[in-house]
Amino acid sequence: MATVMPKSEVADYQMYIGGAWVDAESGETYEVVDPSVEEVVARVPKGGVADAEKAAAAAREAFDRGPWPRMKAAERADVLRRAAALIRERSEELARLESRQMGKLLEDSLIDMNDAAHTFDYYAGLAVDMHGQTLEVPGDTMSMVVREPIGVTVGITPWNYPVLMVAWKAAPSLAAGNVMIVKPASVSPVTTLELARLLEDAGVPKGVFQVVTGPGGEVGDHLASSPLVDMVAFTGSVEVGKHIMRKGADTVKKVGLELGGKSPNIVFADADFEAAVDGALIGIFAGAGEVCSAGSRLLVERSIYDRFVGELVSRAMAIKVGPALDGDSEMGPLVSREQLERVERYVKIGVEEGATLATGGRRLEGKGFYYEPTIFVDVDNAMTIAQEEIFGPVLVVIPFDDEEEAVRIANDTVYGLAGAVWTRDVTKAMRVIRALRAGITWVNTYHPTYSEAPWGGYKQSGIGRELGTFGLEEYTEVKQINIDMTDQPMGVYQRGKETPREGRGKVVPLSDRRPFQRAGQDDEVRGSWVRYCQNCGE
Ligand code: NAP
Ligand code: MG
Repeated sequence: MATVMPKSEVADYQMYIGGAWVDAESGETYEVVDPSVEEVVARVPKGGVADAEKAAAAAREAFDRGPWPRMKAAERADVLRRAAALIRERSEELARLESRQMGKLLEDSLIDMNDAAHTFDYYAGLAVDMHGQTLEVPGDTMSMVVREPIGVTVGITPWNYPVLMVAWKAAPSLAAGNVMIVKPASVSPVTTLELARLLEDAGVPKGVFQVVTGPGGEVGDHLASSPLVDMVAFTGSVEVGKHIMRKGADTVKKVGLELGGKSPNIVFADADFEAAVDGALIGIFAGAGEVCSAGSRLLVERSIYDRFVGELVSRAMAIKVGPALDGDSEMGPLVSREQLERVERYVKIGVEEGATLATGGRRLEGKGFYYEPTIFVDVDNAMTIAQEEIFGPVLVVIPFDDEEEAVRIANDTVYGLAGAVWTRDVTKAMRVIRALRAGITWVNTYHPTYSEAPWGGYKQSGIGRELGTFGLEEYTEVKQINIDMTDQPMGVYQRGKETPREGRGKVVPLSDRRPFQRAGQDDEVRGSWVRYCQNCGE
């Protein structure tokens, strides 16, 4: 049995497949390490293709024959609301575990749990508010559009918001009547397993929510290509996102991609200075910069550039870096040694490219994967450190002279996830925001995120949106239903009939056909022949 919460320091976990807690078919396990102290937190099954296959079959069964998609939406909503309540009830334990497995500050983990609970509540509400359309169509036909679940959905999640990224996917997917298999990031799978326990307790039927742990290249890869899977919702790097699209192509899967960013945070000279400095610091150093929407490119108007950079650097130098569970820490460790080395590599490149390192640029001595808050100034947007996502506490600062230049630099990237503008001039703010090619934007603030608002990127930052009503629609198919209301045969192939029909069928003989006119449209519409049915049943 998986322990609900670790009793000992190192907890042994199992995966959740088909409503049962199981080991990997291979029997293999691997260790999850606390990046604050480099100690083992848990042992987790190292699943592979066989486990992914088993989960896909159970998911198929649960969707094709199980109760979940056939339940009343109100009943599904009750289950999701119970899940929200359980997340709140267990939020302290969940948050501690989240912080231990991936190094996020405890207070940030608590916020994540609260957001995750709210996401379940929010989609519980939307589950009973799904609606389609009725259409005005020609003829005696009633035409309507209904929304239906897609089927077996897969969530492949990253390590920076382990619980929240599952909530963003599972809540809308289950609300819409789908089933979901989650493949969590290998470095931080433990809270996703706890979430499975919690959803089981909330009354989610077996096979409806499953978790398969193990390497993305095996488990994730297999699920992305399995013919039993209808949709993959992925959050992670651009590189893996592209790979998943390719993998899904053979079975024409729907893919939702939430990928990386290199988001511009633009400060004009007329901004509230204090607020903008704060926003610049939060934009990059919140979550140690391991945030896809981080404001990692700071664009500052030249007339305030020196003063702004001076203040920014002295404030960054004072940030207290320390263990995730230490209430004094203002920035935790990076998630893993691999991530730490990635950041070190980029900083080295920045120096080699000729950017000025104003502060930081070193890892901290001793145990744990800590890196100093780092700021490069006088950066050229063409440099590697301005173009590639570092995913760590490294800010690049770029000066600009006017609005036009700011917008040009801001959009000069393959990414388009987020962006912000700081100014007291409302018309300028709107001009710049509308010119930004990005899906998530802020004016005079950075980072607030709402379950009600769609989340996702332009350009190579992704496809589709999570959250909001948009996020629910992603997990639905639309079906048109056309109902004939005449009880008349269509009357096309009459020749072979023993007693040919008296009068006309619904189809007017060719010679009598008049082109069907749409309102305000003079030219002949070459639509389907049914459009010519002017006097059906007469
Ligand atoms: P990643 O390497 O792309 O991994 C993300 C997930 O994909 C993990 O569960 C990973 O499993 C899995 N995966 C890896 N290779 C796979 C494959 N061949 N087939 C299927 N799945 C595979 O990203 P990461 O290193 O965890 O996270 C950092 C990146 O995520 C950053 O680039 C960041 O911008 C992005 N991100 C974006 C958002 C957003 O909302 N847009 C949010 C958070 C993070 P393993 O862990 O087993 O490798
Ligand atoms: Mg990776």
